[in-house]
Amino acid sequence: MSAPRLERLSGFISDLDALLSRAPGEAERLSEGRALLGALVACDDWLPDPYAASDPKRYQQYLLYRDPEARFSVVSFVWGPGQATPIHNHTVWGLIGVLRGAELSQAYEISGGSLSPRGGLQRLKPGEVEAVSPAIGDIHRVANAFGDRVSVSIHVYGGDIGQVERSAFDDEGRARRFVSGYAPVPPPPLAVEARR
Ligand code: FE
Repeated sequence: MSAPRLERLSGFISDLDALLSRAPGEAERLSEGRALLGALVACDDWLPDPYAASDPKRYQQYLLYRDPEARFSVVSFVWGPGQATPIHNHTVWGLIGVLRGAELSQAYEISGGSLSPRGGLQRLKPGEVEAVSPAIGDIHRVANAFGDRVSVSIHVYGGDIGQVERSAFDDEGRARRFVSGYAPVPPPPLAVEARR
């Protein structure tokens, strides 16, 4: 790859910053945010290689940008062959756009104290975006659609997602608290402000 077109990421961040500064309601935030992220992941020429490095042991979450006020964070998710998350929630809004390869996503809901699939298994291709939030459905399990190659998706969350206390669920729907953190990273490609 020639020099990564980092201006795509910085342009996305300033557009998202402008959107959030208008304090839109959730429907507007998610629909306009979806369009911005869709445009970002439609071109695979901007992510520096260190943020696309897979690990054979588990999927990686590299912090690409954290808003100075932690209103949002942008993360590169790198899926090794066959890797998947546990069933989990977010507690904040999120947008998931596939940059490379393909991702499988299954939504879940809790009803009557147990966890059950909601809708079918979705397959997201490069350029496609899905949304989560406590209002529209916040629980899912995400996986690499491929068993023999790496996939990369770009996730945007309404908070500093690596620090958010949230839940993973076992097959019986029992919740376990977790904080994901971020993968040990090379310095983020754009200035990342400390939260405090
Ligand atoms: Fe998720």
